[in-house]
Amino acid sequence: MAEQVFDYDLFVIGAGSGGVRASRIAASHGARVAVAEEYRIGGTCVIRGCVPKKLLVYGSHFAEELQDAANYGWTVEKMHFDWPTLRDAVLRDVDRLNAAYTTTLENNKVERFLERATIAGPNAVRLAGSGREVTARHILVATGAWPVMPDFPGNEHCITSNEVFHLEQLPRRVVIGGAGYIALEFAGIFNALGCHVTVVNRSETLLRGYDESLRDRLLQITMARGIEYKFNAPFERVEQRADGAFDVVLKGQPDPLCADAVLIATGRRPNTDGLGLENAGITLGARGEIPVDANGQTSCPSIHAVGDVTDRVQLTPIAIREGHALADRLFGGRQTTLDYDCIPSAVFSQPPLAGVGLTEAQAREAFGGNVKVYSSDFRPMKNIFAHRPERGLYKMIVDAATDRVLGIHMIGPEAPEILQAAAIAVKAGLTKADFDATVALHPSMAEELVLMR
Ligand code: NDP
Repeated sequence: MAEQVFDYDLFVIGAGSGGVRASRIAASHGARVAVAEEYRIGGTCVIRGCVPKKLLVYGSHFAEELQDAANYGWTVEKMHFDWPTLRDAVLRDVDRLNAAYTTTLENNKVERFLERATIAGPNAVRLAGSGREVTARHILVATGAWPVMPDFPGNEHCITSNEVFHLEQLPRRVVIGGAGYIALEFAGIFNALGCHVTVVNRSETLLRGYDESLRDRLLQITMARGIEYKFNAPFERVEQRADGAFDVVLKGQPDPLCADAVLIATGRRPNTDGLGLENAGITLGARGEIPVDANGQTSCPSIHAVGDVTDRVQLTPIAIREGHALADRLFGGRQTTLDYDCIPSAVFSQPPLAGVGLTEAQAREAFGGNVKVYSSDFRPMKNIFAHRPERGLYKMIVDAATDRVLGIHMIGPEAPEILQAAAIAVKAGLTKADFDATVALHPSMAEELVLMR
């Protein structure tokens, strides 16, 4: 029987971190590749996530530097912040990256369809704009995730992380729903830019999954910086006032909060609505995710999925690795087993926090009493000099039986930059004695990592 002829070897739906990497690598192995994207090439991380967020963090952080500058002898007169200037500069950088990603696809001869695509069958993709149907030996779904908007009256007045980068004006008062990554990162940005920020969460936990001592420290510091918190306070409704501002009514709270913008950051759901996966016999999981095996293959052997749409680890570097490994396996004859152990992560709050490996609570659950915890609670030199009371906190969790470092968690200036290097040691299985044997690099904050006794 003659072999079936397909239009493409690989058709990728979604040109975000995972999809672009898979397209580029598959094409470099000689595959004929096409990618469809309904919004902008680059995906969440580049267009409306990690990258523009980090630029806003940098932009807002000048407030602290400028406040502290006087102690270092600088006189800065007529300080003024202009939101449209920062916003537009950030959006221009997003345009630059969008163009760079597009060029990468072009250079690798990946055909691009700037329209929505859905699955029409195990080897068929329907292009919504043109109505065309194309065939592919393999299809990769890399459509990412989408912000969850809880159901309450007036939620149409609220924005999500999709819209926050485009605000016309800087809101004077911001209410943020949720107390996860996005909520606390934007709480830090708006607070530093001079807005009044209230973080509202349905539970009394912020940053679930991070070490408790660090979360407590972040809460203390951010409250001292003027951020207000309302815990155990689900949204009841949001109403618009005659003056254009909003009343945010919370369950169990007598007085509404008044806000000029309400940002909802209550998690992100896999972006699978209307994708047509049922046409290939694929059943979605409880959160709308695409179930896949360790290789990223769905229940339909010709259809694969990587990144947030699989709802495993919602982090850019993971989507990139998954996309790369898939392309290598399908077209490069190379099998890579991804290792999800010891993934470092950070929250770009102000101050930022970062962690790798087990938290103290997780280690105690796994190892019982056989865990040693070392910590350094210190005031960075830069803060002392600037009369800033904020203290950093580093924690090292060690297996008492083997001396192996199980986790490192830190909050303080530059914590993510320092943790990335420390994560190599944790991943490599180094011991506390290895840290002790390393000479301190003085004066630095990072030296605390080798001085914990
Ligand atoms: P998170 O999962 O970090 O936090 C969600 C927050 O919303 C929690 O406080 C949670 O409360 C609350 N919540 C969840 N569901 C509801 C609901 N139905 N009603 C009210 N509150 C609710 O989500 P984010 O949106 O902040 O971020 C999404 C993902 O994006 C993250 O998980 C992360 O993987 C990724 N991301 C990573 C970043 C980074 O690496 N720096 C930056 C930004 C995003 P509770 O804890 O009580 O459940």
